[in-house]
Amino acid sequence: MYLPKIREIKEALTSFFSKPYTTKFPKEKFTPEPEFRGFPRYYEEDCVGCGTCAQGCPPGAITMSDDLEQKKRKFVINYGSCIHCGQCQENCITEKGIRLTTEYSLATMDQNDPRLFETLEKELLICEVCNNIICAKDHIDFIRKRLGAKGYSHPNILLNLQSNFHALEISKPKSRIRREDQFKLVCPKCRQKIVVEDEFYSFTR
Ligand code: SF4
Ligand code: SF4
Repeated sequence: MYLPKIREIKEALTSFFSKPYTTKFPKEKFTPEPEFRGFPRYYEEDCVGCGTCAQGCPPGAITMSDDLEQKKRKFVINYGSCIHCGQCQENCITEKGIRLTTEYSLATMDQNDPRLFETLEKELLICEVCNNIICAKDHIDFIRKRLGAKGYSHPNILLNLQSNFHALEISKPKSRIRREDQFKLVCPKCRQKIVVEDEFYSFTR
């Protein structure tokens, strides 16, 4: 016959008289450790709208959509698809635009429950020549701060800074690029065309 060892009897008695390791959730609220990987949240002030978090989210829980008419970029995190991997936080270019919280419980019977979605909107800069997206307004400000004085050598950075103080003259998409477009808010593709045109054709055509 199998007889329990002294150690096993001791462990059984200790467990019997000690507090349980498990919690009585949901009756008692569970407080996670600070390192706990809960649902991520956007921090408007620290996010520059670059879109890296959406590109690097393994299950595609973050979607990014651009509205050219409204000049807005919208991010939506679907918590129903989030696997709490932390890639968004790890790859955020500002390191604090999106951060994992310790929130863990969003149980609901409604898959469209607004608590299951986190949204954020950012203003976009649009190319004055071809009407395509340059980048988010906050993103170019972020680059200017990183570059310091060197940043002022780029017209887009300079014009974006000016727009914080007074409204810039609005220009419409054109059929032909002109030399003065060098000093407009233009996308890299159009800026390259302007330089090539200026260098080789001198805007004669
Ligand atoms: S924690 Fe992971 S799955 Fe969730 S939004 Fe961030 S990158 Fe996507
Ligand atoms: S700044 Fe960070 S949080 Fe904002 S879009 Fe870029 S990667 Fe995402």
